[in-house]
Order: sequence, then C-alpha cells, then structure tokens
Amino acid sequence: MHKATITQAGILAPFAVLAAGLGKQIADHGASTTAVISVVAFTLTTGLYFAAQVGQAMRTTLYNCPTKGCTVSIRARNTSPTELDRLRTLATDHAKHGTTR
Ligand SMILES: [Zn+2]
Repeated sequence: MHKATITQAGILAPFAVLAAGLGKQIADHGASTTAVISVVAFTLTTGLYFAAQVGQAMRTTLYNCPTKGCTVSIRARNTSPTELDRLRTLATDHAKHGTTR
C-alpha cells in the first residue's frame, strides 16, 4: 500500500510539471484564465487517472495453478493477508480445485 502510494506520486509528478508548463505556455499566448485552468485541470486529471490505474494494478495479486493444462487462476484485490494466503493455497494446490478423474 505504501509502496503503491510512492509510485503513484512518481507518476503524478511529471504530469504536474507538464500541467504547469502547458499552463504557463498558453497563458503567455494570452489565453484566458478559464482556458489556463481547464488545461491544467485536465492534465492533472489524466495524471491522477494513470496513477490510480497503476496503484490498483500494484494492489492486485494473481495466483496461477502450476499444473500443466490447468487454467485456474485467482486474481485478488484489496484482500487481507489471511485471505490472500487462503486464495494462494486454493490456486496453487491443484488437488484443492482440480477434478479427481
Ligand atoms: Zn489446477
């Protein structure tokens, strides 16, 4: 969770620089305050969107069954460590979900 937050800040930082740069540039060209604010807000919103996507991906855990030919996989998000443990066992132990034929 903490690691994801730092990464998200790292993604957002270039967008903040970009937003400031764009805002200054169009302000220098005599754009209205509304236009400047719109550009800055839009750029920051895009940055926030990407940061949120990455944060969510980092909090998502995927477990695959190691047995050949078995396509069982479990994707967990925002799950407690205990539950993650249970899901990992369920996904990686073929006997727990495979057919007994
Ligand atoms: Zn399996």
